[in-house]
Amino acid sequence: MYDIAVIGAGINGCSIAYEFLKEAKRVVVFDKEGIASGGSGAAGAFISPKFSKAGELKEIIEEAFIYSMEYYETNFYHFFTKAQLLHIAKDAAEEESLRVFKANTTLRLKEANEALVKNLTQKAKAKEHVSLDAGVVNAKGVCQKMAAGADFVTLEVKDIVYEDGYWLIEQQYAARELVLATGAYETILQEPYIGLRGVWGHRIDVQSSLQNPCSIHQFVSISPSSEGVMAIGATHNVHYHPQKSKEPYDLTQGRQELLQKARETVNLGEVEIVADYTGLRSGSHDYMPLLGQLVLANETLQCCEKKIRVKRPDYKEFLYYPNLYMINGSGGYGFVLAPYLAKMLKEHILSGKEISSRLSPARFFARWAKRS
Ligand SMILES: Cc1cc2nc3c(=O)[nH]c(=O)nc-3n(C[C@H](O)[C@H](O)[C@H](O)COP(=O)(O)OP(=O)(O)OC[C@H]3O[C@@H](n4cnc5c(N)ncnc54)[C@H](O)[C@@H]3O)c2cc1C
Repeated sequence: MYDIAVIGAGINGCSIAYEFLKEAKRVVVFDKEGIASGGSGAAGAFISPKFSKAGELKEIIEEAFIYSMEYYETNFYHFFTKAQLLHIAKDAAEEESLRVFKANTTLRLKEANEALVKNLTQKAKAKEHVSLDAGVVNAKGVCQKMAAGADFVTLEVKDIVYEDGYWLIEQQYAARELVLATGAYETILQEPYIGLRGVWGHRIDVQSSLQNPCSIHQFVSISPSSEGVMAIGATHNVHYHPQKSKEPYDLTQGRQELLQKARETVNLGEVEIVADYTGLRSGSHDYMPLLGQLVLANETLQCCEKKIRVKRPDYKEFLYYPNLYMINGSGGYGFVLAPYLAKMLKEHILSGKEISSRLSPARFFARWAKRS
């Protein structure tokens, strides 16, 4: 018998497991392949804010960025490299955004000194940029460390049933609370309103004589050098999907794209590709993460149709799966968001602290129900 079961051992599932392990709870984590085998294992795992002008997504990523920087440095310093980040605008529109960002941000910005810019191409040097302290996480290492105190089961979960106050998983494992952290590989619940999209990404590790002291973001992200190896990522491929595409993924084309984009920013010199990583990011339709309880769509439609069809429905009026939660939809910011979201979800489950409605999966139910 477990206090909590987590399905999915990416950064979201492992962050939740870690939060509950800290509270001395009994935790079981399931993954069909292994820890960090999905999008999390592919990630460059750069920790950075979102350099846009304004908006809800920028706000939450900034809150999460401040939280995660301290969190990784304090709890997982062996898996965290703090490094200055140089973010360079791609085009004129982004130059304008960066100017607005710099004029309004409360984050402490830094000068990009000669050591940081010396490897840049002339074109990159000419563009608007911003620099601050940021970091890079060892994706697999951190996920493994977070989940280390939990029972881990390699299993594709298909069957979950709620009985007598417990979730029964594959008729074998019982847990009081259940968290779905299945990323873009979601297959368990077929609720029609959860519209997550998977965006395929490819990143490479390259051996290079270039000594890069910082993280550089422009068309792709380039990590600081560690023993002559730099991570370069990632592509955004909306056409390929590992479960749906008929053709296999073209690794060579992905590698070419990454190197070509990196060379627009940095004088890379000769490189040797030493590893490829691929996976799906999971994004929601409004790009905000999904955190919290899941609405029982049919039951809510039947009981409360009038309450749904008002201009601003009260999500508290909906019916929810008991003790079932989701953490998902982090897009390209899973490693920035996960510690912050996991803390919120833990406080919600253990102390009843409300989760902001801007993150609740119920927002998508409300939209879907009005249309249907
Ligand atoms: C190439 C690439 C580069 C990226 N770079 C960055 C970056 O620099 N910074 C950043 O913050 N983010 C980055 N991201 C995004 C980040 O990786 C994701 O936001 C994050 O991994 C999402 O984590 P997750 O735990 O939700 O999903 P995942 O890591 O995909 O984990 C979901 C897990 O659930 C398992 N699963 C699914 N269904 C079942 C089932 N029925 N039973 C058992 N197990 C199941 C899967 O096997 C998988 O391991 C990148 C992503 C990619 C693909």
